[in-house]
Amino acid sequence: MTYITIEGLHKKFGTSTVLHEIDMQINKGEFITLLGPSGCGKSTILRIVAGLTDASSGKIHIDGQDMTGIQPKERQVGMVFQSYALFPNMTVKENVAFGLRMQKMNPTEIEKRVEEMLAIVHLTEKADAYPKELSGGQQQRVALARALIVRPKVLLLDEPLSALDAQIRKKLQADLRMIQQQLDMTMILVTHDQEEAMAISDRIFVMHNGRIAQSGTPTAIYTKPKSEFVAQFIGHYN
Ligand code: ADP
Ligand code: MG
Repeated sequence: MTYITIEGLHKKFGTSTVLHEIDMQINKGEFITLLGPSGCGKSTILRIVAGLTDASSGKIHIDGQDMTGIQPKERQVGMVFQSYALFPNMTVKENVAFGLRMQKMNPTEIEKRVEEMLAIVHLTEKADAYPKELSGGQQQRVALARALIVRPKVLLLDEPLSALDAQIRKKLQADLRMIQQQLDMTMILVTHDQEEAMAISDRIFVMHNGRIAQSGTPTAIYTKPKSEFVAQFIGHYN
């Protein structure tokens, strides 16, 4: 059964069309990657799914619910960006607990949930540290924990690893995939890094100029690119 449906999504900024009739169907627990060069419309799709930008036309359903007119806060959609945007004056634990405090969950339950989440992202020993005392990779783990603790229906990740150096990025890719499977979380990752997409995804949507050039498993896209563009972008030259 399809968990997230995107139908005929169209977006114009002024007179320029940045998304042309995008269709996507995503299953519960899938790890989806939107892969494509800078400017092809990846972030715009995420922003529309999150409710931060309105579509010009088209529909989005999440878990059977039409998102038209639903405020971002009511969508149960989590987001992680390239810049960490942690609260600098809060400890790791307080940053992660933030969403649950807003929900007015009882403190004992919050404590328990935060401890579990810190274990999942391997930050238990940093619970009382402040963001400035952490590495970039650790800060991004906190951002991930903070987004996941409220148990969103889908987590949107916009180039979350792009600012990190190669070795840390590889480690976090593997960890992200593990966390996704452990929580059976539906995730949509945006990246321009084909290696990252190949390593991490159940399915990839390759984008080009506001359109989906091809979608499929990493293997299918790698071995059977449908166009010159996909072949070149994936790095497979026939
Ligand atoms: P990507 O994330 O793939 O790099 P974006 O979704 O950010 O691409 O942008 C797609 C296109 O839409 C780009 O040409 C970009 O310049 C344009 N765009 C994005 N946001 C706006 C905006 N708020 N106003 C005008 N044009 C925008
Ligand atoms: Mg972008």
